[in-house]
Amino acid sequence: MSTTIAFIGLGNMGGPMAANLVKAGFAVRGFDLSETSRAEAAANGVTLCESAADAASGAEIVVTMLPAGRHVLSVWEGLMGTIAPGTLLIDCSTIDVDSARKAHALASGNGLLAVDAPVSGGTGGAQAATLTFMVGGSGEAFNRAEPVLAAMGKKIVHCGDAGAGQAAKICNNMILGISMTAVCEAFVLAEKLGLSHQSLFDVASTSSGQCWSLTSYCPVPGPVPASPANRDYKPGFAAALMLKDLKLSQEAAKAAGAETPLGAHATALYESLDKDGHGGADFSAIIHLIRERSA
Ligand code: NAD
Repeated sequence: MSTTIAFIGLGNMGGPMAANLVKAGFAVRGFDLSETSRAEAAANGVTLCESAADAASGAEIVVTMLPAGRHVLSVWEGLMGTIAPGTLLIDCSTIDVDSARKAHALASGNGLLAVDAPVSGGTGGAQAATLTFMVGGSGEAFNRAEPVLAAMGKKIVHCGDAGAGQAAKICNNMILGISMTAVCEAFVLAEKLGLSHQSLFDVASTSSGQCWSLTSYCPVPGPVPASPANRDYKPGFAAALMLKDLKLSQEAAKAAGAETPLGAHATALYESLDKDGHGGADFSAIIHLIRERSA
């Protein structure tokens, strides 16, 4: 008999992830508050349930893919007492490290195994089952989660104990927010100095300024044809989601006593972009804000 998995949160990411679990042969029982998400999941072979607790009843594994820490804690709290001992809880949402650790404590207090397993790779990676998972939790929990995560992704890294997956996710995305801003500043400076985009790209992409934000996701049209800059900054990875992750990095930095001045500055820039109404644009659209401020 195939393993039964409950999947709570069938949105832009959770929907295709649940569909990939179905494709891999798992029996998937799903729940979401949104009717649109429910209908899409049903069309992809997910058995729809009336509540999170209903989905989790009889499941060996519960996956959550929800907006923020408060949603994850409230769903997990609602499941305690109703799910069988030995059930494994996997949270794939991007949430604050503190809530992730509270969720782990809740699970272990109820005799359940848990991992935090946030992802990178976006909706494209969720659809193609090529996500990277960053996992926090015990070795035993990781070993049980791995085959489930392998059906939804291509790289799975055990980062350490409770919360280590979320820590890895926000550290990586803080680098990304800062490096994108740095690359955008360099292109705007080049424009002011009369240096062409292509010349800067040709030099920096093979010099010490080389980084992913430049070579894979170039924020000006031309040098990297697949980057969102070539399709009017349609995401890709929305600026509002970058802001969410940068804010999580700053909360964590404050709580842990780490100095992250560039992270703080990148957060403030993305906050301005979002306030100006561009949260739905790709995060490389931060170049517009920098250009405007240089006018
Ligand atoms: P989304 O808003 O499309 O999906 C979230 C879903 O959760 C919605 O369908 C909503 O109805 C549902 N939901 C909310 N509360 C619920 C509850 N109590 N019970 C059941 N369902 C509930 O968001 P998304 O883009 O799928 O993102 C999910 C998580 O993944 C977020 O934490 C996000 O930061 C992270 N993430 C997103 C991306 C991306 O590119 N979209 C990339 C990496 C990580």
